[in-house]
Amino acid sequence: MCLTESLVQCYMDRELANDLLAQAMAHLDECSKCKSNLDQAMIEEKLVRRALAYEMALPIPTVQLNWFQPHEGSIVDFLFRARAFQSEGAVHA
Ligand SMILES: [Zn+2]
Repeated sequence: MCLTESLVQCYMDRELANDLLAQAMAHLDECSKCKSNLDQAMIEEKLVRRALAYEMALPIPTVQLNWFQPHEGSIVDFLFRARAFQSEGAVHA
């Protein structure tokens, strides 16, 4: 039986259990269609990694906590307010 897309992804992510990995490897040795699908998926993953490499290396700024800063209402609302994405068309309550 041929490998599904999710199995190919698990194979690439090294998430298959040993018995499934052995079955997948055996199948890949004999099925050119699945081997081709795996090769294509690996090429696509490499392209995405290369395209995102710059952004993935950047530090992500977060809110610096100050436990003594006074706030009203929910601490969760306070912490996430600064990170919320707002568009110009946002509806304000
Ligand atoms: Zn196959």
